Amino acid sequence: MKEKKLPEGLHRETLAVRTGLPPSQWGENSEALYLTSGFVQPDSETMAHRFANPQEGYTYGRTSNPTVTSFELRLAAMEGTEAAIGTSTGMAAILLLGMGVLRAGDHVICSRSVFGSTLNLFAKEFGKFGVESSFVSQTDLKEWQAAVKPNTKLLFAETPTNPLTDVCDIAALADIAHGAGALLAVDNCFCSPALQRPVEMGADFIIHSGTKYLDGQGRVMAGALCGTRKWVNEVFAPIVRTAGMTLAPFNAWVVLKGLETLGIRMQAQCANALAVARFLEAHPSVSRVYYPGLESHGQHALAMRQQSGLGGAVLSFDVKGSDPASLRRNAFTVIDSSEVMSIATNLGDTKTIITHPATTSHGRLSEEQRQAAGIGQGLIRLAVGLEHVDDIKADLSRGLGKL
Ligand SMILES: *Cc1c(COP(=O)(O)O)cnc(C)c1O
Repeated sequence: MKEKKLPEGLHRETLAVRTGLPPSQWGENSEALYLTSGFVQPDSETMAHRFANPQEGYTYGRTSNPTVTSFELRLAAMEGTEAAIGTSTGMAAILLLGMGVLRAGDHVICSRSVFGSTLNLFAKEFGKFGVESSFVSQTDLKEWQAAVKPNTKLLFAETPTNPLTDVCDIAALADIAHGAGALLAVDNCFCSPALQRPVEMGADFIIHSGTKYLDGQGRVMAGALCGTRKWVNEVFAPIVRTAGMTLAPFNAWVVLKGLETLGIRMQAQCANALAVARFLEAHPSVSRVYYPGLESHGQHALAMRQQSGLGGAVLSFDVKGSDPASLRRNAFTVIDSSEVMSIATNLGDTKTIITHPATTSHGRLSEEQRQAAGIGQGLIRLAVGLEHVDDIKADLSRGLGKL
């Protein structure tokens, strides 16, 4: 499983296009898709060796596959980590992290504002196995520090958050984690390595949902966990081999090709998002816009420093209204008046997606829990895509003009 030999010191854009395994004997220029569950061995001796040393050859698709290896090499090169391991989904990557790092009796500190399934995984599923979790403010470092206990093993952060785009300070969290003898994992879905490389700020593990910007065109489910070679080879790869949260080769191939255009897609989608955010901030029917790229955002300076000067492509805004019922009616009017955008809950697509968090991603919370989380009935989330920005603004104006 030897990486293609490239000169030292290449830029990230080049690595995104060029990193992977070398071509097969046929010399294909676009990386091959190996749809096979098993691999034929030259002889019994080699087979025995590869079963004992899975990093040195392919045996069975649950353990590894060359297309998946190319994806892992490429993502690690882009994140700046020594290694990465593919998983079936983003949630499977977080499951793998927990299975590898945590034992019964360990304690986790996690932001209260992370992805909903991540909250459930730590609080409910890992809780069954004797792992205790504390949930703290996304932005108040004192709360993170105060939550540290002698058995704290892992800090888990996601930045910016969904849907309110709160930004946490990765370098400061790495200091808190390491001061406590714990490890820091960062879910980097929203920024992707094109904008934000948590390992350069001290994070130990990076989580990805490949389903989002890495694929970027809403085609497949995928995930990945990035870290040191030692953690990946000695801890995470054996768990994937045993437990089977393996990334499918077809999905790996789709995301591998998606990574080649990640940088330019993110640049273009962030530019669209900033223009849309400024348009909404000036609109009389909008009371508030949440976007790290705006000067009005609470952590604007931190976000610009941490995210390569870009705000990301997800933003949210509150439409005007006098009470929860009118706020919801107005939000639905804006969403339902759209003729271009997709009404959906996904993000990270070239197609702009519009959604109403209070009745979808946060629909299972009580009204009080939603209030505490700042998710009002008038809140609309946009995951801005690659359409012409004037068409996105015009599509939003259709509904906003009716309020
Ligand atoms: C979507 C998402 C996940 C989960 O990824 P899946 O591929 O859907 O399992 C985790 N974290 C964040 C921030 C996400 O947006």
